Amino acid sequence: MLKIDNLSATVDGKAILNGISLEVPNGEIHAIMGPNGSGKSTLSYVLAGRDGYEVTGGSATFNGQDLLAMEPEGRAAAGLFLAFQYPVELPGVGNANFLRTALNSIRKNRGEPELDAMQFLKVARARMAALSMPEDMLKRGVNVGFSGGEKKRNEVLQMALLQPKLAILDETDSGLDIDALKIVADGVNAQRGENFSALVITHYQRLLDYIVPDRVHVLVKGRIVKSGGPEVALELEKDGYASVQEAA
Ligand code: ADP
Ligand code: MG
Ligand code: MG
Repeated sequence: MLKIDNLSATVDGKAILNGISLEVPNGEIHAIMGPNGSGKSTLSYVLAGRDGYEVTGGSATFNGQDLLAMEPEGRAAAGLFLAFQYPVELPGVGNANFLRTALNSIRKNRGEPELDAMQFLKVARARMAALSMPEDMLKRGVNVGFSGGEKKRNEVLQMALLQPKLAILDETDSGLDIDALKIVADGVNAQRGENFSALVITHYQRLLDYIVPDRVHVLVKGRIVKSGGPEVALELEKDGYASVQEAA
């Protein structure tokens, strides 16, 4: 499970996260919602180990391991999937090679044999068919010229291939249309089970119509001001963020 305890962080010397505590048990899907600028993406970047984010207090552990002490690659090897690590465009890097390299480094870490190009293609094709992804997306450069929906499908394909224990998805893209939301939701729902958990970060309630979370946490000014069941998202949809912002 993911355990975040009193986590604080700064960006450029500015305090953005101000003591966040949160536990996501195995098998559960939690959502983090909050107004723009509340620190949602910062939280996901801190958990990913992105440069420029300084942890000033608290801890984050994943199945007892100190997440914040691990290299970003080590976090992936431990079973963490961070969606936004991958949406970058990599011209000249074939999507198939990229995905196979990512998968093999995780398989190696799990003590499983690496897949050669043919074996990988077989697995990837099966997953892609399930996602209605055209096969030529394997031949293209990573995300190069992909539409928003194709990038989302690619992200979900990565998740389906890597089979993470915990996925952290920052659905930060305000341009996400309903189709793209459904792609993400179907991908997450397909992984649901006792060995999979997710932290779904979103500004929008509508994503949670498709991914029904076990718990919802509301982040305001770098603090969790409210936690509850799926009804919390529905209340926010009705009342907006004004009421929780006043409480912060
Ligand atoms: P959210 O994802 O909830 O919209 P962010 O985590 O992106 O919020 O941003 C939280 C706050 O941190 C905002 O006030 C934003 O301006 C600030 N911030 C984010 N990144 C940087 C940065 N690189 N330098 C300075 N301030 C930043
Ligand atoms: Mg934002
Ligand atoms: Mg954001």
